Amino acid sequence: MSNKNGVTVWFTGLSGAGKTTICMAVEEKLREQGYKVEVLDGDVVREKLTKGLGFSKPDRDENIRRIGFVAHLLTRNGVIVLVSAISPYQQVRDEVRQQIGSFIEVYVSTPLSVCEQRDVKGLYKKARAGEIKQFTGIDDPYEPPTNPELECRTDLETVKDSTAKVLAKLSDLGYFFESTISFAEESVLTSI
Ligand code: ADP
Repeated sequence: MSNKNGVTVWFTGLSGAGKTTICMAVEEKLREQGYKVEVLDGDVVREKLTKGLGFSKPDRDENIRRIGFVAHLLTRNGVIVLVSAISPYQQVRDEVRQQIGSFIEVYVSTPLSVCEQRDVKGLYKKARAGEIKQFTGIDDPYEPPTNPELECRTDLETVKDSTAKVLAKLSDLGYFFESTISFAEESVLTSI
């Protein structure tokens, strides 16, 4: 089975909330099933597509608009696009939603205290020490989505739970059909 219709799944939430981890698990499952998938990860994008942009509101909005632009191109070509970006502002998230059309917003709503305790990249410690400025959740705002299609509380759910929820949403909306055999097995069978 492979995709006919593209969609963007947009993961928003604080640093360390679990966006990248869930994205990677969803990506693996979709690829295994033969779907065309691309991941636009905030950290990677900022090294390439949006290199040079900072963390002021205008720069953050520009970062999201550029990610949204690429996601739109891929989505209209039948790709399942997984975006992992803090994307702290509601207005620009709504703007890319409008532009892309086929859009699923996943709010990875892990509380700040848990993200800070995890401190995956050591950034919260630096932000608390004042070594990093404009850090989301510490001295920069995060506007929670008002109407996300899905919410993942990674402090209460396992990665497996969160991944299954995202795949179930894709399935409910008709973008994903799970086959009992993997894409590799299917390819072998159809070539016989
Ligand atoms: P983000 O991309 O939001 O900055 P990461 O995915 O890089 O966050 O880091 C999240 C951390 O939380 C990882 O170390 C991951 O193993 C851990 N974690 C624990 N439980 C979960 C879960 N249910 N879903 C996702 N991540 C989880």
